[in-house]
Amino acid sequence: MEYEGVVKSILDGAGADVGDYIEITREKDSFKGIVMPHIEFSGKDILTLKLDNGYNIGVKVDDMCKVQLVQRRQEGKRAEPEYVADPSKPTVSILGTGGTIASYVEYRTGAVFPAEKARDLVFTVPELADLCNVRAKVVYSMFSENMTSENWKKLAGEAGAELDSGSSGVVIPHGTDTLGYTAAALSFMLDNLSGPVILVGSQRSSDRPSSDAFLNLTSSARLAKEDLGEVVVVMHGETSDSFCTIHRGTKVRKMHSSRRDAFMSINQKPLGSVHQDGRTEWLDEHRSRSSGPVKLQAEMEDDVVLVHFYPGLPAQLFRSTVKDAKGVVIAGTGLGHVSSSLFPEVERLIQAGIPVVMTTQCLYGRVNMNVYSAGRDLLLAGVIPGEDMLPETAFIKLMWVLGQTSDAGKVRELMTANLRGEINPAIKLEEYSE
Ligand code: ASP
Repeated sequence: MEYEGVVKSILDGAGADVGDYIEITREKDSFKGIVMPHIEFSGKDILTLKLDNGYNIGVKVDDMCKVQLVQRRQEGKRAEPEYVADPSKPTVSILGTGGTIASYVEYRTGAVFPAEKARDLVFTVPELADLCNVRAKVVYSMFSENMTSENWKKLAGEAGAELDSGSSGVVIPHGTDTLGYTAAALSFMLDNLSGPVILVGSQRSSDRPSSDAFLNLTSSARLAKEDLGEVVVVMHGETSDSFCTIHRGTKVRKMHSSRRDAFMSINQKPLGSVHQDGRTEWLDEHRSRSSGPVKLQAEMEDDVVLVHFYPGLPAQLFRSTVKDAKGVVIAGTGLGHVSSSLFPEVERLIQAGIPVVMTTQCLYGRVNMNVYSAGRDLLLAGVIPGEDMLPETAFIKLMWVLGQTSDAGKVRELMTANLRGEINPAIKLEEYSE
């Protein structure tokens, strides 16, 4: 997008254009940075500047502002960061998958590109190279709604291989929409981790003044050097740029469609936070690094269905939805219920050897199927209570469990065991009476 109006005339007046390094002054305030392309949503009199510290800011321009051209952009030459391995720094692997975080803004010219090459991944945040030796690879360039278990398997294999070959930690930039599903899948597929596997996204692309990509990525790189042996998600902890929160991969959910602090740990304290000054603060127990090697168990059963129950769900619609399923997870109401009209369907599934797991669409709290007769009948029919697991975590877990075994007793045993922190025994039940 081209600048118009007052921004255009003030840039033209100084002979400056997108990609040039300028200083803009208004009375006592002054900012220096690279002129980024105009962002449609930011308003027509807002000039976007990439500051020396890597952040983009939007400057409101009026006739009182003065612009001085400090350095013309270098035509035809990409300002690529120099990566000289520094033996004093640990190596951090970055495995790109796509999503908003992977579209990068060329540092000098301001043009926006999808990351297609490894170095593009770190191009948007050259500061990463100050924190560690970056080993980057583009595994995928896709939006996360298109992810399947094949993608999770490949990512788990790549992450394990990176750790086994001496990487201190693995950072996986990923679209935010299904970040929680991938985090849960990798949590189950990977064990005995010799370093953290960190999924990270951004709610706003790095060409926007309010992008969260910079803090999320630098915080992830910082965490990659810490003593952590779990799959986690690192995203903004609040709307300002003060810290990022570390969420356990099996307990995290995107709870807002657009806020920068959209991700929350559910039924679990966040494991910790990474502050802007680089400090990591731990808030809950977490697994330390193992001495390796990483254990990979990536098989998954794809034919598992996640059903969100609603009042009036017709029995025959439920039946056709689960027709070819090898396993079913229900996000039921309250303590873990569905309408009595579905009981025969659930019984029929279980008698046919299809495991049915009950979770709650309340998200917070755990299921308790002993309180109401509806719950007790479902338990008697053989429904497996999903404790305080998120419905999507129980869904991913059932896919993974069925990838490991088809033995009904073993499936029940694994689904009710706490394998990767997905079940939190500390979430206490309130007292209930019928
Ligand atoms: N739809 C995008 C995705 O999940 C949104 C994002 O990148 O955050 O891939």
